[in-house]
Amino acid sequence: MAKRKSKREYVWLECKECSERNYRTSVSVAEGTPKFELSKYCKRERKHTAHKIRRK
Ligand SMILES: [Zn+2]
Repeated sequence: MAKRKSKREYVWLECKECSERNYRTSVSVAEGTPKFELSKYCKRERKHTAHKIRRK
């Protein structure tokens, strides 16, 4: 039996500048989709940009 206590979901980290989905991670979605942004390296632009969470 697979019991899930914490609501976690796989999400994409999407570049805000070119919309490239560069990273996949899991976040807690118990209180809705997290709204934070992360500075991540974008392979397409070859620089660090702000990435936002994108649910599937
Ligand atoms: Zn980008």
